[in-house]
Formats: sequence, C-alpha cells, structure tokens
Amino acid sequence: MVAKYRGPARREGGWVDLTAEILRGTADLSGANCIGSETLFDPKARNEESVDAAYRHRAAAELCRTCPAVDACARWAATQPDTNAVVGGRRPVLPGNPGRPRKASAA
Ligand code: SF4
Repeated sequence: MVAKYRGPARREGGWVDLTAEILRGTADLSGANCIGSETLFDPKARNEESVDAAYRHRAAAELCRTCPAVDACARWAATQPDTNAVVGGRRPVLPGNPGRPRKASAA
C-alpha cells in the first residue's frame, strides 16, 4: 500500500476569498449598462484604427451616460490610473485623435 502525501494544510480560503480580496474597494456596479458590451470599453487595440476605436468609445460613453451606476463608477474611476479605456463615461484621448480642435485666434 502506498501512503498518500499529506503536506501542510492549505491556509488560503479558496476562490471565494480570493475574489472578495480582488473586489475589495471596487464600486457596486449592479445593473451596469456595460454588462455584455465590455469590448466597446476596451483600450484601442494595436492593430485598430484610431477612428474605429474613437467610434467604439463614443458608443461606450453613450451607454455610460444612461447607466444607473455612473456616479459610483466615475468616483471609483477617479481613483484609478488611466487605463485608456472608457470608464464612468470618461473617454481616453487617442493618438492621432487629440480631441476638439483649438479655436482660431482672433486676428
Ligand atoms: S458608467 Fe459606464 S463603465 Fe461604469 S458601470 Fe456604467 S456603463 Fe460601465
């Protein structure tokens, strides 16, 4: 008969505790509009045209605009480093798409 190895008892609490630790401090986003449309919010992919990413991000920001969790999400997002993704209605500034053009200076 071969004896089974019985090493030290595992002390971690398993995936439930791990998930709780990861989510600690995140906002309650129950009912968020982005559920099921996550790819709209992703940062611009390396092989994606800026104009396509900007279009995608505008659609994502529109979902944020009517999201029931937008206030909590925006508060949480303000505490996070910039991810180049759409979060809490905030769109990233994309290279080659610097945003609104400056007003022409009066002559
Ligand atoms: S505000 Fe936007 S990113 Fe935040 S939970 Fe709502 S839809 Fe998602």
